[in-house]
Amino acid sequence: MKYEKKILDILQNTLGNKRCGLHEPIFAGNEKNYLNDCINSTFVSSVGKYVDKFEKELAVYTGAKRAIAVSNGTSALQISLKLAGVDEGDEVLVPSLTFVGTVNAILYLGAIPHFIDSEEETFGADPKSLISWLKKSTELTSQGCINRKTGRRIKGLVPVHIFGHPCKLDDLLSIANDYNLVVVEDAAEGLGSFYYGKHVGTFGKLGILSFNGNKVITTGGGGAILTNDEALADQAKHLTTTAKVPHKWKYIHDTIGYNFRMPNLNAALGLAQLEQLDNFILSKRKLYDFYEKEFKKFKHVRLIKEPKGCKSNYWLQTILLNKSIFNKKDIILEFINNHNFMVRPSWTLIHKLLPYKKFPRAPIKTSLSLEKRIINLPSSADLI
Ligand SMILES: *Cc1c(COP(=O)(O)O)cnc(C)c1O
Repeated sequence: MKYEKKILDILQNTLGNKRCGLHEPIFAGNEKNYLNDCINSTFVSSVGKYVDKFEKELAVYTGAKRAIAVSNGTSALQISLKLAGVDEGDEVLVPSLTFVGTVNAILYLGAIPHFIDSEEETFGADPKSLISWLKKSTELTSQGCINRKTGRRIKGLVPVHIFGHPCKLDDLLSIANDYNLVVVEDAAEGLGSFYYGKHVGTFGKLGILSFNGNKVITTGGGGAILTNDEALADQAKHLTTTAKVPHKWKYIHDTIGYNFRMPNLNAALGLAQLEQLDNFILSKRKLYDFYEKEFKKFKHVRLIKEPKGCKSNYWLQTILLNKSIFNKKDIILEFINNHNFMVRPSWTLIHKLLPYKKFPRAPIKTSLSLEKRIINLPSSADLI
């Protein structure tokens, strides 16, 4: 049987014959109650009790000391990198295999992305190739880690937890420590994922979440900054709310701030979603088990399982085509999408895209192979 037909069979056995999107939001809880309450209160915009509540509940859930709700995950990253000390002209190590927002946040600060390779188990940054690249191409000085070729300081590292699977944090944090790099975690896809019992996004100096419509929970659009540093948290709140000094009527802004706050309406939606998060994740883990039962009969692909020691939220279910059939990806995508199941490839590697070609990069090998072989499957929490 042809590969694409076999995969369609597996999807039909698992999901039945209904049309399935890639990841659709579910509004089965208090969404309408909270939104109505929010509208009735007239506090629909930048202040209100739902913003405070949502931030508090996010901190409780993730175990971060503080969570600051903002307009989206990209703005959360921009502010986190700024607060982590990334300045104009600094380089920041970032996997090429990620969503474009990760890289844009670096560029918005006038800093420079420096692309690194990813590895096959978690799809996150590869510690082994990173260490050999740093050994070869950088020098540690009193100014920090210097890129010998460009002469610029390499200031930070942004690990990304891809599709909700925690990346190899221990190794990456230890490299960052050795090379004097500040770590800001992109946990946009990782709400509900734990690395050896600790929530992702709480390992670096700061970390971020996204609540875009296709993420595990949604606020329509939105994001959050996580940190265990109270002073940084206060600065994050201040900077993302136009840097206005609190006063009953005076407008004093003590630095050039940003209007990156999350409106109360969005936070109301988020609070209702957060109440259902554990259920969403249970369903998504169950969906993995169903897929697993079916895919283990088909030896040409590997269904991606949570890494050892980790509990993943299984945001996007993923298969990896074996190297023997990587050239079948487009045929498979075309065929399955034409049969009512939305399946997607990985992002195009960012270093290949026109606006990003000119930036420095380590040898990128595994990511190129992954890009040819990753297929995301229907993953919504209500599919089974
Ligand atoms: C979704 C996402 C972001 C950005 O989130 P937005 O809320 O869409 O700005 C950043 N990084 C990754 C890996 C993402 O998946």
